[in-house]
Amino acid sequence: MSIPFIDLKTQYRLIENQIKANIEGVLEHGAYVMGPEIRELEATLADYAGVSHAVSCSSGTDALLMSLMALGVGPGDAIFTTPFTFIATAEVVALLGATPVFVDIDPVTFNLDPDDLRRKIRYVRENRKDLTARGVIAVDIFGQPADYDAIEPLAHNSGLFLVVDAAQSFGAVYKGRQVCSLGDLACTSFFPAKPLGCYGDGGMVFVNNEELHQLLVSIRVHGMSVTDKYDNDRLGLTARMDSMQAAVLLAKFGLFPGEIEKRQEVTARYAELLSEVDGLTPPSVPEGNVSVWAQYCVLARDTEQRTEVMGRLAEASIPSGIYYPKPLHLQKAFADLGYVMGDFPVSEDAASRIFALPMHPYLTAEDQETIVKVIKG
Ligand SMILES: *Cc1c(COP(=O)(O)O)cnc(C)c1O
Repeated sequence: MSIPFIDLKTQYRLIENQIKANIEGVLEHGAYVMGPEIRELEATLADYAGVSHAVSCSSGTDALLMSLMALGVGPGDAIFTTPFTFIATAEVVALLGATPVFVDIDPVTFNLDPDDLRRKIRYVRENRKDLTARGVIAVDIFGQPADYDAIEPLAHNSGLFLVVDAAQSFGAVYKGRQVCSLGDLACTSFFPAKPLGCYGDGGMVFVNNEELHQLLVSIRVHGMSVTDKYDNDRLGLTARMDSMQAAVLLAKFGLFPGEIEKRQEVTARYAELLSEVDGLTPPSVPEGNVSVWAQYCVLARDTEQRTEVMGRLAEASIPSGIYYPKPLHLQKAFADLGYVMGDFPVSEDAASRIFALPMHPYLTAEDQETIVKVIKG
């Protein structure tokens, strides 16, 4: 009777018949690539997010890559983003030959700090004549929206684009607005462990602008022309989502709004139980926003307390994890950017004492009580 970190089995049992029927639908019609499920999913999720277009694709990483390609990002471009994120956010920037410029985070939400963003944009403009400030990628880390009322005007008043990396936050709400309706483009991931996951890899880009939409559709399939598929207008990718994954997502989407509700109940319970533990700071979400809680990340007093707590959990066979143990500016893959320890103190501090507890919509009060009892020792 173990407690899973993320429970996809319970969810599957609830919709098993629908999942099987939808997959069988694909097997029967045989349109494995760009089948009718793709259009249905895109229409359904565009409507949910409140945007005119949704472009499905092969992963969250490809959603980001396609977005930057559509925006014409290339060598010499500076793209501002957080170092406290999954590697993909900055990886796509570097893959296109552009330069990630890191910006430190807010100590409470772990999202981009608008004041540091303003400083870094000015720094690049004044001191990096080799770079052109082009855009910002804001990440909604752990499912919680970034501070868009501060970030969006900062980007747009400086002539920069804003891409929302909503890989962890599909369904999250910022001051009444779906996060995937924000920015010039918003990207999400349907990797199984994300709040809305498929049974493999998948992603989506959300956009209102018609021209960007056409570019994304073309880039998704080898830069194909919209009028003739053997005319190639530009270089692109093979970044389609397959029909099976769309069929799975259509079956799961029915549960999704209710699951977001359940995630609020689970995290409210955690916050109450953890308030009795010395030295631990449970996560908090500003009034008016809704997180989808991709991860439930707690700050320990210091690295020692984190090691102790995670050790106790491991002994009791309760899974826990660290997101993220090493900020991107300290990763070997980005060594050529020349950053050193001390450059992003808030990100480094979070990395040294953050840890994640089991989190999913079907976590019971009883299991949560067990988890917190073990944490207390
Ligand atoms: C998961 C994730 C991605 C990449 O999504 P994939 O579907 O795994 O390619 C990008 N950014 C963030 C913040 C993520 O958590």
